[in-house]
Amino acid sequence: MRRAHLVAAACLVVLAGYPVINPWQPYPQAVLLLGFLLAVQATSWNIISGYAGYISLGHSMFLGLGSYTVGILAARWGVNPLWVAPLGGVTATVIAVLIGAVVLRTRGHAFVIITIAMLLAAQIIAVNARDLTRGSDGITLELPFWHRDFQNIPFYYAFLVLLVLTVLFSAWIRRTKLGTGLIAIREDEGKAASIGVDTTRFKIVAYAASAFFIGVAGGVHAYYLTFINPVGSFAILGSVTIVLAALAGGRGTLYGPVAGAFIVNLVSEAATVYAGGVQSRVLLFGGALVLVVLFLPQGILPTAQAWWRRRHPDEVEYLDQAGALARTPVSARDRAPEPAGPAPAQAAAGEVLLSVRGVSKRFGGLTAVDDVSLDVRPGTITALIGPNGSGKTTLFNLITGGLPADSGEIWFDGRRVDGLRPWRRCHLGLGRTYQVTRLFADMTVRENVVAPLADARWRTMLSDAVRGHEAERARELLGLVGLGRFAGQRAGALSYGQQKLVELAQVLMLEPRLILLDEPAGGVNPSLLGSIVDVIRELNAAGVTFLIVEHNIPLVLDLCDPVAVLAGGRLIAEGPPGQVREDPAVLEAYLGTDLLPAVR
Ligand code: ADP
Ligand code: MG
Repeated sequence: MRRAHLVAAACLVVLAGYPVINPWQPYPQAVLLLGFLLAVQATSWNIISGYAGYISLGHSMFLGLGSYTVGILAARWGVNPLWVAPLGGVTATVIAVLIGAVVLRTRGHAFVIITIAMLLAAQIIAVNARDLTRGSDGITLELPFWHRDFQNIPFYYAFLVLLVLTVLFSAWIRRTKLGTGLIAIREDEGKAASIGVDTTRFKIVAYAASAFFIGVAGGVHAYYLTFINPVGSFAILGSVTIVLAALAGGRGTLYGPVAGAFIVNLVSEAATVYAGGVQSRVLLFGGALVLVVLFLPQGILPTAQAWWRRRHPDEVEYLDQAGALARTPVSARDRAPEPAGPAPAQAAAGEVLLSVRGVSKRFGGLTAVDDVSLDVRPGTITALIGPNGSGKTTLFNLITGGLPADSGEIWFDGRRVDGLRPWRRCHLGLGRTYQVTRLFADMTVRENVVAPLADARWRTMLSDAVRGHEAERARELLGLVGLGRFAGQRAGALSYGQQKLVELAQVLMLEPRLILLDEPAGGVNPSLLGSIVDVIRELNAAGVTFLIVEHNIPLVLDLCDPVAVLAGGRLIAEGPPGQVREDPAVLEAYLGTDLLPAVR
């Protein structure tokens, strides 16, 4: 990464010096400045579509919004368009928040469709709101006030400065918890929500952030063109070009979209000179998009980097160590006062931490959870057992908010939580792991452990992804589960059992008051079982309450008290392990399964 920054700085120096050396050639300047403009757009697009993975096919709308804002204001007030260009960014951001607040509450593909629809809607509005936009006639802006002989140079620097700001902005976002949260959303949105990432807010913020600099650039672009009209300003081809640039260069990386923009811009320029016509360009870009998706799914820059690393294997270690996370210093300076840890449960007799009251969940004709009531008292390790398909995982999903319950109430720590989104429940101190682990496979183990967000404050969201004390805490937790040496590895590369332990460390980062473990021993190498049990005991002694789903009955009977038993979605028994193992209803529920001998 450090090398990439150096290359970028060198390119910047060359580009900044170019018009000084060669001031009398407007054509290459124009090609370059349009490259900057495309790079601003691709880098911005990358924030929502690269980091968060929500593909926008209508991003050129923000360019048009910026252009029109500036065109209208400049015409009304008679001010120079450059002075009001930032207002173009404001308009774009406000519209993005409005659209995002509606669309990004949902997950998945609706967003893609809506972004195209919005672009087309913007064009129609621009045609019809004649009082404001002069309709299809368009708006003519004043000519630049500087001398014609070097007409492009001020635009060249304006776009270059915007590009630098956009790249710095994108880099800053990537370094914050907002950035890590966006990557988490891209990799597994449901999981992200369960570890405290307010996915709705993160996505809206990312969408708004991806609009601002395009809006500003749109304002400058309007002045550069001195004429704007609906068809030119809200062009679908513009959006396709942005996507192509970002995908070609390397979506989700910092410099990929910039590199892609320059390449696409050169190809586009060549196409105009040699092939001519918009139609041929549409064909060309469409074809290029297909080729990129087929042959360079990662994009040019990441592919080139991977190639370089293969050629220079000795440098791999250096490159990995240069990763931002590994560099984070643990200095006394950023050591914030450690939260006092999970408060030892002051378990007044009869007090209840989690109370599930008459909760049901149906999937079509199947009642997976049927009128279940269950209390978890603070300080306990409560077990939830039952044959396969008896509704244990579904009940966990209802408790943590992954699924909405059809009926019933869920109370946590004296508060009704069944209407709250998963991240709110997480912030209240409810943590969980999954039956099939859901780590972010492409993040390192360390990044996974620091990914959770313990609260919903903006300050937290915009703070560094890993603050010093967090790096230290992550190291501690990984040490606790015996995986300290894997901190720098890709989480997806670990064994299944190790991933389970990393997920445990991850949820511990939140310092939850209640942890729901879904089959913590399932698929885990027996040699690791001991560590899991030790960790659970140790944490329980420190005041953490557990609700554990587990098939390893000897382990359950040894570790847990009380034990609750589900069968066919209904709670059929509850009590101390000694009593439950003798319960005829339990024996019957397990009849015919290989768990029977274990229960006896
Ligand atoms: P357990 O964890 O106790 O093995 P689950 O809660 O996973 O059981 O499943 C309970 C029942 O609900 C099963 O019959 C399962 O097939 C069904 N089920 C679970 N999740 C879904 C879903 N998302 N859609 C439809 N059926 C589901
Ligand atoms: Mg299950």
